[in-house]
Amino acid sequence: MNRSLDELRQEAIKKLEKISGDPLREYMELFSLATGLSKTHALTNFFEVNSKRIEDLRLLETYISQRCTGVPLPYITGIEGFWKKEFRVTADTLIPRPETELLVELILSENKSKCLKVLDLGTGTGAIGISIAEERPNWKITATDISLFALRTAKINSRGLKNINFVQCFWLNSIGTSFDIIVSNPPYICDNDPHLKYLRYEPRLALEGGRDGLGPAREIIKTAKKNLVDKGRLYLEHGYDQKDDVTQILRQSDFCTIKSYKDFAGHDRVIKAHS
Ligand code: GLN
Repeated sequence: MNRSLDELRQEAIKKLEKISGDPLREYMELFSLATGLSKTHALTNFFEVNSKRIEDLRLLETYISQRCTGVPLPYITGIEGFWKKEFRVTADTLIPRPETELLVELILSENKSKCLKVLDLGTGTGAIGISIAEERPNWKITATDISLFALRTAKINSRGLKNINFVQCFWLNSIGTSFDIIVSNPPYICDNDPHLKYLRYEPRLALEGGRDGLGPAREIIKTAKKNLVDKGRLYLEHGYDQKDDVTQILRQSDFCTIKSYKDFAGHDRVIKAHS
């Protein structure tokens, strides 16, 4: 049996190499998910292979096959790390991306007031709003999404937090109050972008921004002022080639002090503007 465990591991890693840049880590995570054992057990044969374990290892093979057909790892494990914790993800939510942490980082470092009201539009898993809420217990966060399924997941992710509430709505429609900060990572991929074929497991709703990818950003910018206090701040994530277009839309809507930020890969990724 030891030999076949080694074989199983080697074969699985060889398969995962074709799809993943980090096959060993992915194998360890899937092993842990299937067996309930720690990730380090994945590299040893130090466990009893009883009938329950044989079932577990079959399940592991199913996970490996799913992964090899292109299902992103977080949609199999149901979790993805963002900022300082693990977020539950489902087929109804985008997988939080590391570059989105820039929004959280900027909002925390540039806004020092004790009590601020923040609106996170299109929260998905809740990654942005929940991370801010955890870091600033005195701030009040409202997080929205059009998808009730996404909101259900975000609520689960926010368990234990008292300073965040959730609202189902389309961007700023039906938001009545004003905020110091509005933040969003809206869908910003063009409908015909070839990259969409690599993102076929993520919800279209969370990815596609219309013909030029800027539909949601335009909608948010055009309506944000009514829900921002005087000198309120709008922080938006955008596509690597959308900085000039977003800047122009912000100017047309009378936003000022527009500032752009690059992500760790050196791409223009976030824009901030004052109302
Ligand atoms: N705000 C969420 C995130 O950044 C979801 C974004 C989206 O669905 N476009 O992960």
